[in-house]
Amino acid sequence: MSEQHTEKPGICYLVGAGPGDPGLLTLRAKQCLEMADVVVYDYLCNAEILNHAPESAERIYAGKKAADHAIAQDQLNDLLVNLSGQGKTVVRLKGGDPFVFGRGGEEAQELHNAGVPFEIVPGISSSIAGPAYAGIPVTHRDHCSQLTIFTGHENPAKGKSVIDYAKIGSAAGTKVMLMGVGQLENVSAKMLEGGADPGMPVALVRWATTGSQQTLIGKLGDISSRAQRAGFSAPAVAVFGGVVDLREELNWFEGRPLFGKKVVVTRTRSQAGALSVRLRNLGADVNELPTIRIEQPEDIKGFGRLVQDAHKYAWIIFTSPNGVDAFFDLFFKLYNDVRSIGGARIAAIGPGTANKIKEKHLAVDLLPDEYVAESLLKQILEEESIQNEMFLLVRPNDARDVIARGLSEAGAIVDEAIAYRTVAEIGDPTGAVARFEADGADVITFTSSSTVEHFLDMELPLSENLLIASIGPVTSGALRSAGLEVDIEAIESNIPGLVAAIEQYFAELG
Ligand code: SAH
Repeated sequence: MSEQHTEKPGICYLVGAGPGDPGLLTLRAKQCLEMADVVVYDYLCNAEILNHAPESAERIYAGKKAADHAIAQDQLNDLLVNLSGQGKTVVRLKGGDPFVFGRGGEEAQELHNAGVPFEIVPGISSSIAGPAYAGIPVTHRDHCSQLTIFTGHENPAKGKSVIDYAKIGSAAGTKVMLMGVGQLENVSAKMLEGGADPGMPVALVRWATTGSQQTLIGKLGDISSRAQRAGFSAPAVAVFGGVVDLREELNWFEGRPLFGKKVVVTRTRSQAGALSVRLRNLGADVNELPTIRIEQPEDIKGFGRLVQDAHKYAWIIFTSPNGVDAFFDLFFKLYNDVRSIGGARIAAIGPGTANKIKEKHLAVDLLPDEYVAESLLKQILEEESIQNEMFLLVRPNDARDVIARGLSEAGAIVDEAIAYRTVAEIGDPTGAVARFEADGADVITFTSSSTVEHFLDMELPLSENLLIASIGPVTSGALRSAGLEVDIEAIESNIPGLVAAIEQYFAELG
C-alpha cells in the first residue's frame, strides 16, 4: 500500500483568500491553511498567505493570469478530487470569494459528484473590498440602494455575449465589473448605446488592497480612453455610479504615509511579520524576502547541558530574541518550574530581546542604554567587580565576540551557549526574489548583520535609487564595510525605531 493511502478521510476546503491585503483573510481560512497537506492556489492569491500553511505542505500553483492557465480547469478539478481522495486535507485557495466569479461553484460540484467531502470558506471579494480601499462605498443611502456585480469577460466558449451591458448600464445604483479592463471599450460603448449617462462617474481600482493599488477616475464617456492612455491593465475592478464621487472625502488608504512605497523585509520568514505589519499599517507595499533562516545549533547536546546548568550562573546574557526562544524552548523541556533557572541576573541586549524574556515572566535586570554589545559590556563592568563570577552568554553561532572577550578580560568565567545557527534562506515559495528582480523596490531594510551578509551572497541587482535602511549602528557597520551607503538608520535600534525612521525619511521628502 502506498504511503498516501491513509485511513484518514480527505477533504477539500474551497477557501477565499481575500482581495490581496494579507490581513483580509478570515480566521476560518487561516485555520484551514494550518491544517493543509496541500494548497492549490491561484495567481490572484497573495502568496504571503501561504505562510499560514505548514512548511511541509505541498504548494501547487494553478495559474489563471487570464490566458496563462498553468493547469486547465478540468485537470484542476481532477487534481482536487484525486488529492482529497488520497486522504489529504486540501485547501483550494482562490482570490477574493470562491463563489464570486471564481469557478468555486463548478469545483464544488465536481467534488460533490466524486463523493469527496468539501467545505466552503467565503472570502472578502475584490468587488466590495476594491472599491472600499479606493474610498468608494458600493452602497450609500443618499446615492443608491442597489448593487449589480457583473463580469466583463464572459466564458469565451459561449461565443456570443449573453450579458446585456446596455441594460446593466442603465440599471439604477452601483455597478461593479470584474475581469473587464480589457473589455472596457466594448462594455462602455454598449452601456452608452443603452442610454446610460456619459457623465456617470467611473473608477478603476487596480491591485486593490495591496501596496501597489492604483486608482483611475473618469466618466463613462471617457474612462476607456483614459485607461488606454494610462496603460491601465488587469487585475482591476471597475465601479460605475454616483458613489464614486464619495472618494473625494473617503480616500483613506492611498493617503497613508508610506502608500505606494515598495519596502523589502529581509528577516527570517517567521520574524518578518512583526516588521511587515507595521510597514503595511503605514500603507507600504511590503515584499518579504527572507535572506536567513534559524536552525538548531550543531552541538545541540552541548547547548542542552548549559541550559540545564543555568542555575549555576550569576548572570545570563541574551543577545537576541531568537536566543531567548531557543533557550526557553529547551529549558521548559528540561524543567517545568521557571524557578529552576535559579537566582541568576538577566541581561538583554535590546528591547526586542527584553520583551521576549518578559513573555517568560522573568524580569530583565540589565538593558543597556544603547542596544549594542559594547554598551551592554560596559554597563555590566560598571555594576560591580565580576572577578570569578560565572556568566552564561546565550548567542548565535556567528556573533561578534565583544561580550565574551570583554568579560573574560575582566576576570569573569564565561560559558558561551550557542543557541542557534543563522543560515542562508534558499527557499522562495512566494516568488519574492523574482518580484524584487522584476520590480525592484524603494527601500530595503536590514535588521542584523547576518541579513546584510546573506542578502549580498544572493547577488541580487541593487538599483541606484534603492534606499538602504538599517536597524542600528552594528548593521550599518556591516553595510558600510560591504561598500554600501546607509540612507536611513533607526535612532532606537528596534523594529518600531526602524519603521519610524523610514516614515520620517519620507515625511521630510514631502
Ligand atoms: N473571486 C474573486 C474574483 C475572481 S475573478 C473575488 O471575489 O474577488 C478575477 C477578477 O477579480 C480580476 O479580473 C479583477 O477584476 C478582480 N480582482 C481580484 N483581485 C483584485 C485586486 N486585488 N484588485 C483589483 N481587482 C481584483
